[in-house]
Formats: sequence, structure tokens, C-alpha cells
Amino acid sequence: MVEAGRYSLLFEPVRIGPVTARNRFYQVPHCNGLGHARPQAEAAMRAMKAEGGWAVVSNQETEIHPTSDLSPYAEGRLWDARDIPALRLMTEAVHDKGALAAIELAHNGPHALNQMSRAPILAPSDMAAENLIPRQARAMDKADIRDLRRWHRAAALRARDAGFDIVYVFAGHYMTLPHQFLLPHLNDRTDEYGGSLENRLRLTRELLEETKAAVGDRCAVALRFAVDEMLGADGMQAAEEGRAVIEMLADLPDLWDVNVAGWPNDSATTRFRPEDGYQTDYISFVKQVTRKPVVGVGRFTSPDMMVSLVKKGVLDFIGAARPSIADPFLPKKIEEGRIEEIRECIGCNICVSADTQGVPIRCTQNPTMGEEWRRGWHPEVIPPASSRSEVLVIGAGPAGLESALQLARRGHDVTLAEAEEAPGGRVLRESRLPGLGAWRRVADHRIHHLRQMGNVQMFMQSPMTAQSVAELGISHVFVASGARWRSDGVGRTTRRKPPAISARARVFTPDDIMDGRLPQGRVAVYDDDQIYLAGVLAEALALSGCAVTFVTPASVVSPFTQLTLEQARVQARLIDLGVDIRCNRQLAGLEEDALRLACVYSGREEEHACDAAVLVTERQRNVALHEALKAQGLETLELIGDAAGPGLIADAVYAGHMAARNFGRDADKIELEWFRREITSLAL
Ligand code: ADP
Ligand code: SF4
Repeated sequence: MVEAGRYSLLFEPVRIGPVTARNRFYQVPHCNGLGHARPQAEAAMRAMKAEGGWAVVSNQETEIHPTSDLSPYAEGRLWDARDIPALRLMTEAVHDKGALAAIELAHNGPHALNQMSRAPILAPSDMAAENLIPRQARAMDKADIRDLRRWHRAAALRARDAGFDIVYVFAGHYMTLPHQFLLPHLNDRTDEYGGSLENRLRLTRELLEETKAAVGDRCAVALRFAVDEMLGADGMQAAEEGRAVIEMLADLPDLWDVNVAGWPNDSATTRFRPEDGYQTDYISFVKQVTRKPVVGVGRFTSPDMMVSLVKKGVLDFIGAARPSIADPFLPKKIEEGRIEEIRECIGCNICVSADTQGVPIRCTQNPTMGEEWRRGWHPEVIPPASSRSEVLVIGAGPAGLESALQLARRGHDVTLAEAEEAPGGRVLRESRLPGLGAWRRVADHRIHHLRQMGNVQMFMQSPMTAQSVAELGISHVFVASGARWRSDGVGRTTRRKPPAISARARVFTPDDIMDGRLPQGRVAVYDDDQIYLAGVLAEALALSGCAVTFVTPASVVSPFTQLTLEQARVQARLIDLGVDIRCNRQLAGLEEDALRLACVYSGREEEHACDAAVLVTERQRNVALHEALKAQGLETLELIGDAAGPGLIADAVYAGHMAARNFGRDADKIELEWFRREITSLAL
């Protein structure tokens, strides 16, 4: 039990310009794939954070004008007054739960491709658009800059009318004009908006002054600013121009929201930045330079670290995006001393991958994230069962653990049987790989809770068979038996022409590596999965002393990790470890001492000497038990998680959660309702 008052410092109100936050927990702006496309879902998701105790709940970068059109991504949109009602849904819902609502106004310059609006792309200087499209951005002339200021001011007024309490000027992530004007490599102007720092900062200053003049009587005006590009002398550094910017603007904003650039640095994964508070070294000077409150981020989940950062005068507000996604009730749990109940973010960036694909947010740790409106899910509350049943869950991977926990929370008597010595399934195995240690939290959180519950029995080393299930006599059975990696080389690109694998070849699967059966010598890792695992396995093998060749039909290593903002680091790490990377190559054949590769474009073959190969292609579902149980006439028999469809850990947790919620519901109703949709209005 936490002693009273230990974290009380975190629950002091803090003034921000004309408004007051009820405590120090501040959900900084973050994208969520809901935005203007799904405003009711956005409102409900943000309101859940407010209910969970966050004092400030921000939306996400919000386009202020059609020249900042981020389509097809669903960010915020406030082009004109017709966008106000959708945003008001959020402010009202957030206010209702006692929090302040913040809006991150943004003009994205060459980061906005204006694919829907077909407006010209604006930038400080003539340049290629940020993404690969065949249109360039044009340097803004004075009239463009005057327009931009007018658009920003008008958007601030609309934000105030929509009910926002805090209005942002956004100069970070390379994504907005204020930041782009600040950085010399993006701004080669020779007028008063280019050249000296004072000139490059002029636009930010003007936007701040004009936003304050427009709405500052009612709304606080925040500046989100990236103090350091993390490029050393090749970029803006906190100790030099980063500090100078804060000195020059000092008390002009009502709040400083400080971080590092770009987004992959700001939202670094635990795989590459394992430590909580990884931005603190860069931002700790800010409070010495301004008298205004400061918020910073860095995957904070430890309340002791939070208290120490406030006490040391580093931060006034504990900022969070991902920790608030993984646990919207983090502040409430700290306030009530329920520290053990915090669902800690594992820093996997699956949440980010949804935004980068333009689909609704999801979270590995919190399966209810993004489902607040469309399914009515709450992260802390699950409806009790109308009648209590005995339930058997087979397999204690992420799907089995989550379903067992939620079934028990609904009041059922749960038996959880696992073949292995320890619960955790793939989470436990993958978390042993380099950089993935934090992923264990997915299992640990659930195991901790299951162990507290009187209506749960957990049996390890208990491989279930159809016979042992029959002997148990439990008629509601969930099979979460997972999947195993196949060893025949068949996968995404080799279906038509599977590789010829000699009987003498030494073939390993990812399961072998994770179970500690390691090859030696010259090892080829063949990645036709193209998600994340092969890259981690190659790293593990290189660290174990193997001479690793990484082969993939893809044009980069682990292409999925582009969506989690990690790809460049993944590839750089393999290069640093001396891994020989061969992209655009398909596995054609495998012999005892060599591997035959075919160019994916020309079909031309080449041979490489190797002693063993690790084939990372596809998984095969473990369905034998489920098939055998079909004959038993059980009242409930449901296959869940990777056994029903291999995917991410997030998918397995989600499937487990869904199964527990649906248990006992009328199947026809589930089929009919599916989930609520925000159907596009036909009104003009
Ligand atoms: P998921 O991601 O769907 O949860 P995992 O592969 O992580 O799947 O976990 C599946 C778990 O199920 C593994 O820990 C495995 O040992 C266990 N398991 C598989 N078959 C049985 C069985 N017949 N009896 C008990 N446990 C099983
Ligand atoms: Fe954290 Fe991963 Fe959830 Fe994102 S998806 S909030 S990184 S646990």
C-alpha cells in the first residue's frame, strides 16, 4: 500500500494563463486515426482520458485550412465553421469529466500533400513535398504568410467557439510551418523570415502573439516546440538554438510543451530507447528559462519518477501520449494508490501504426482503446455476467490471459490451463529477444491480476487433450492455443514456387531461436514475413556470434516497422552489427552448405555459402485440439487469438477481450450489431 500523500504533489492544481488544470497530468496531443472522419469516436476516446483523471486532454494536429490537407489521414480538421460541431462533441465530453480540452492547430506546410483539396503545397522555400508525390511545394511569398497568419487566427477563434480551453501553436516534428521556418535546412529565405534565428522564429512569434490577441482572454495559448533534433551539430541542439528560442519567447506562451524532433525520436520505442524519461536530458533546462508552466513527455509510467521531475523543477506537468493510451486511468490509479494496477505502455508503437495506416487507433496493452464509442467498451469496467458459469481457457498467451482475466472480472469461475511452465505464451518468448524486454508487461499485468482473483485457477505444465477437457467436465471452452512458425519456406511471396529445401539443410524457425535452439556459424535469416520478428532474430543471432546474412524479398529490412517509426533504426542496427543485408531476393533453394537466391525482378539466381537458415515466413495455427473438441458437444467452443488468425500481440489481446465480452451474448445480435459506424452525412 502506498503511504498517504506520497504522490499528492501530482494532484495540485496548476494555472495555465486564464485556465486552471485540476492536477499535473497532461495528455499531450496525439493522433489516433479517428479525428474528423470519426468525431464521435474521437470525443468518446478523449472523454475516457478525462474520466481517468487527466487534467488536460488534447486532440491531435488539426488542419486549419485546405492548404494543410493531410488526407487520407484522419487528423483534426477546422477549415471553417462547419467543422465546429464535430469538435464541440469532444470539448463537451471532456469538460463533462472535469478536464480542460486542448487543440493542436497546425499548418503542415510541405508535410501536407493536399491530395484531397488539390491546393498548392506551401513551404518556407521551394522544395520537394515530404512524401513521394509528383508535386513540389512552393516558397511562400509575403501574401502567403499574411494569409497563413489570418487562417491561424481565424482557426483559433473557431477553436474557442468550439469550447477549447488551450489553443496550440505547433512548432515540432518537422511537420508544421513554424518548425519548418525555424530550421535552416528547410528555410533558405533571404527576407525577414529567413537567415538569423530571430528571422526564422518570426513566424512562430507572430502566430503566438496573434493567437493570444484573438483568444487569450479565454484560452491559454501553448507552444509545442521541439528543442533538439537529436542530430548533434548537424541539427538544432537544445544547448544552442533550442535554448535560444526559449529565451527569446520566454513568457510569451502560457505553456511550453517541449519535446525532441522528429516524431520517431519523440515517440521512440522501447526497442531503441528502453528507459522511461528518455527526453529529460534534452528538456530539463526549459524551466530555468521561462516562468510559464512546462510539460514534457518520455513514456512516463512511474509515479516516483513523476514526483521527482516536478520536485527537481524539470516539469510542471507530466505529459503523456502513449502511457495515456495504454492506461487512460493512470492518474486515478496513482491518486488512489493503485500503482500495481497501472497498465504500463510497452513502447511498441502499434498505436502509431494505426495512425500511419489511417485506421482507428489500437493498443497492445489496452484492447478497449478506440472502441469507446463504437463498441461502448470501457477500460476499467466490464458488464457482469447475468449468470455465473464455469469456463475453461486453454493456453496462457496474450489471448488466453486477457480472456481469462475479463471472464473472471465478469464473475465467471475460470480455469486457465497452460502447457508450458510459465504463463505468457509468445509474449514471454518474444520478450527474451534483444530490445523487447518491456513487452513482458503484457503478460505480467494480466498474471498479476489473475493471481489476485478468488474465482480463477491457473494450472501450468498442463497440456490439455480432448480427453482431459472431457474429464474436467467444463462445458464452456475457449481455445487460445496459438500458432507455430512453419519450416518449409512457404510464405508471402513463395506460395507459387516454394523453395527447394534439401533434407540435409539445417533449418531453424523463429520458435527454435526463441526456445534457445541457436544455429552457429554462417546463418541466413530469410524474412518473407516482413513484419518485425526477423529483424530482431537477426540481431539476436549476430549478438550470439553468428555471421548473419539477412535475406528478404522486400526492398528494406522489416518494412512493417516503417509504420512503427523504427525501420531506419532496425536497418541501421543490423548494419552496425555487420549483418550482410540482401534485399529484393527470394529464397529459391537451401542446401547443406549454401542458399540459392533469386532476384525478385529478374529471376537471376545467385548462391551464398551458409551453415544454417532461419526461415521467417508464416505461422501455422494450432487447431488440432479445437478440431478434436468439436465432437464433444460443448455448450461453448471458441478458438481465439493466434490460433484463430495469427497477428500481432495486440490482435491476440483484442481477440481475448472480445471473446470475454461476447460470452453469453446472443450470437445473432453480435452478428447484426458488429459495431457502430459514423456514416457520412449527406447534408451539405
Ligand atoms: P496467443 O497469441 O493467441 O495468445 P500464444 O502462442 O502466445 O497465442 O499462446 C498460446 C499458448 O497456448 C502457449 O503458451 C501454448 O503453450 C499454449 N497451448 C497450446 N496448446 C495447448 C494445450 N493443448 N494445452 C495447454 N496449453 C496449450
Ligand atoms: Fe504503448 Fe504499444 Fe499501447 Fe502504443 S500500442 S500505447 S506503444 S503499449
